[in-house]
Amino acid sequence: MKQSLCLEQIDGIPSFSKRIQGQDFCMTKPQLDIMQINISNRCNLACKHCHVDASPIHTEIMSRETMKDCLQVFGENNFSVLDITGGSPEMNPNFQWLVEEASKKGIHTIVRSNLVILTEKGYTHLPELYAQHKVEIVASLPYYSEKDTDRQRGVGVFKASIDMLKKFNQLGYGKIQDLVLNLVYNPGGAFLPPKQDSLTMEYKKKLMEQYGITFNRLYTITNNPIGRFGQFLERSGNLKSYMNRLVSAFNPAALENMMCRSQLSVGWDGLLYDCDFNQARGWTTEGVHRIQDLKGTPVTARKIVFGNHCYACTAGSGSSCGGVTT
Ligand code: SF4
Ligand code: SF4
Repeated sequence: MKQSLCLEQIDGIPSFSKRIQGQDFCMTKPQLDIMQINISNRCNLACKHCHVDASPIHTEIMSRETMKDCLQVFGENNFSVLDITGGSPEMNPNFQWLVEEASKKGIHTIVRSNLVILTEKGYTHLPELYAQHKVEIVASLPYYSEKDTDRQRGVGVFKASIDMLKKFNQLGYGKIQDLVLNLVYNPGGAFLPPKQDSLTMEYKKKLMEQYGITFNRLYTITNNPIGRFGQFLERSGNLKSYMNRLVSAFNPAALENMMCRSQLSVGWDGLLYDCDFNQARGWTTEGVHRIQDLKGTPVTARKIVFGNHCYACTAGSGSSCGGVTT
């Protein structure tokens, strides 16, 4: 079932765009830092909170030509981080080529992994590849208990994730300076994440005590009311109350560091977006909106396309793919 209720038409929810109209935050910064590329809408999992609606039935993957375009635009505009995401990015047959090519160019690369894919046939060599190229890992682990994680991501996910985190530790991840292992927490329902600092301490304690696992940082991310999570909210009659919760928690201090201000998001087909959430809604950037058309052209500051889903980035301590923003 697709989400039918438009977030901009829910009674009593003020327009996010109007709320920040005319402020400096409506524009990107002149120099962008992060290019986030979504190279596969295919995923081995089908998590309940997924805002991009990824699952094993999807077939959309980024071509090698589009990856080359991304790398060219990255270099021409001095981006500092290549953030590779999906779906499960590992399921793109050109994934390994991309990691190696980025490494040759000296690019700092992040891969967002669900961990479970790395236990499946054909993918088990990838942790060593990541270590060899000093790829930063951002791994989903919705909670440090089996019950909560499996409820959100599927049966068996917690055990597979723990095995893989142990493997990353054996390779030096979370222990050696250049091998960074960060985890991601998502709330298991229609509520805001707890404080990132206190949850980090809890995760560190529990994962060390119970499994001997160590990691660098924990990112708490607010669930965005779109995609599969939006459909769940609508089905369960919780969409309006969740939106009200986000609006009530609106924090103006979170506007400065909204991730769209310093990143460019590229879809599997080369279309450009301000962020992954706009990508999930199909809202392309203002002005140029294909990576191919940016080649040889400086990326300049642009007006960001906002909607009411943006309340998820500005509630409480703020939320981004790198955790809290305030
Ligand atoms: S949340 Fe991540 S792991 Fe889960 S279905 Fe979506 S893309 Fe896949
Ligand atoms: S969803 Fe968040 S990152 Fe995307 S445009 Fe809105 S505020 Fe920016």
